[in-house]
Amino acid sequence: MDGSGPLFCPACGNLAFQPIGRKKLVCGECRFQFYRNAASAVAAVILYGDEMLVGKRGRNPCKGLLDLPGGFVDPGESLENALYRELHEELGLTLSDARYLGSGNNVYHYANVEYDTTDAFFEIRCDQRPEVTAMDDLDDVMWLKLSDIVLDDFAFTSQQKLLRQHYLP
Ligand SMILES: [Zn+2]
Repeated sequence: MDGSGPLFCPACGNLAFQPIGRKKLVCGECRFQFYRNAASAVAAVILYGDEMLVGKRGRNPCKGLLDLPGGFVDPGESLENALYRELHEELGLTLSDARYLGSGNNVYHYANVEYDTTDAFFEIRCDQRPEVTAMDDLDDVMWLKLSDIVLDDFAFTSQQKLLRQHYLP
């Protein structure tokens, strides 16, 4: 899926399945078409006072770099439900009242496939500091003062852009 040459067609099996631009692949033999739609993803900016909850990635891509809690939206799921599910799976948190902030895009490299993603960002403000445990995709989780955030420590450019736009002094 990196556009370097023809692939075997999943419909007819011929080595004639080729990308047409970025958006689709077409088989030159049987005309089978496959659209490369962007994958939906969600992430949360969880705030307590002037601190933000940030995770450390436990898996590639970008293992060890910082990440906002979140993940991919499952088929049939809403953005909000995906966000609340991911916060429960990754942090053991049961939160609600997420406010939509905006969106961005990334290319996510995983197992030799490049996934174009559309990332939706939400903010959740907490009155009390919630107890959290890093689980699933996250190795660790920490509260960072907004003034201590270093954008280059974050794995994804869409998150860097969001943080620069909304949260950095
Ligand atoms: Zn074919």
